Amino acid sequence: MAARKAKTAPKKCPDCTGAGETAETVRVGSRKLRDTDHQQAALCLTCFGTGEATT
Ligand SMILES: [Zn+2]
Repeated sequence: MAARKAKTAPKKCPDCTGAGETAETVRVGSRKLRDTDHQQAALCLTCFGTGEATT
């Protein structure tokens, strides 16, 4: 049996680490600068949700 090595596995997107989406912290504030606990799942724009590095 030959040891199975990972062959040319697709590179994971560095931004979302392969998840395909990123969690963005929603910041609210015009005069009051404060962070909220709200997080928004957003499609990763680097890989467009595929989770793979494009190049
Ligand atoms: Zn990505």
